[in-house]
Amino acid sequence: MWPNGATSAAVVSFDFDAEEVWIGEDPENARRPGTLSQGSYDAKVAVPAILDLLDRLSLTATFFVPGRVAERYPDRVRDIIKAGHEIGHHGYTHTSPTSLTREQEEAELTKGKEVLEALGAEVVGYRSPSWDFSPHTLDLLVSHGFAYSSNLMDDIRPYRHPKHPIVELPVHWTIDDAPHFWFDAASWVKTIRSAAEVESLWREELEGYVALEGMFMLTTHPQIIGRPGRLLMLERFLRHLTQQEGIWIATARTVAESVP
Ligand SMILES: [Zn+2]
Repeated sequence: MWPNGATSAAVVSFDFDAEEVWIGEDPENARRPGTLSQGSYDAKVAVPAILDLLDRLSLTATFFVPGRVAERYPDRVRDIIKAGHEIGHHGYTHTSPTSLTREQEEAELTKGKEVLEALGAEVVGYRSPSWDFSPHTLDLLVSHGFAYSSNLMDDIRPYRHPKHPIVELPVHWTIDDAPHFWFDAASWVKTIRSAAEVESLWREELEGYVALEGMFMLTTHPQIIGRPGRLLMLERFLRHLTQQEGIWIATARTVAESVP
């Protein structure tokens, strides 16, 4: 299944949501500097620290970026591109396509792509801000020249959508940072897990993906995984990932291109 005799694959991905994830959750948050500052941490601290980490580990990753984040932080996006990482589409605003009309969804796709391409990115991948599709998403991805989607949870290996020439790179909550760490002071109902607990969970899952010869799509968010203690955990985990025998670590785009 994998190129050059590899027996499993992995993609390291980051959703660089910054303030948009908070505004998408509640438009009123646009007027709440404290709430927004959780997202501003992305551009100020987390993304530079992650770029430094990836550089030290010689890893190439994929960053999904909403258009409005790229407009607010063009230099950060240029830094990501300059370091050789892939940029994928993550909406213009951080709004689920399931809540948009076809026209609105198309406008989000077009605008987001324009902003990223103007900064020098070649955009062929789409991760929806909700990991979900509207009835129009796949048609729109085809008509706007996308090659892959990274949104669904029905497999552990990439596959091609049956009626659309789009490769799916499956994701899952277990190997995402948000379900374990996300904390929203508006609801105050969730306990924040320790980095050690999540590291152990990710190691278990990785062992399973390697055993089943799957593709491990690590999905993280700089504002979540980029907190100080978690950054150390990410480094330990990524070192462990690179030490797996027979694993092929590549960008989402490169893995998508390997699918027949
Ligand atoms: Zn997001």
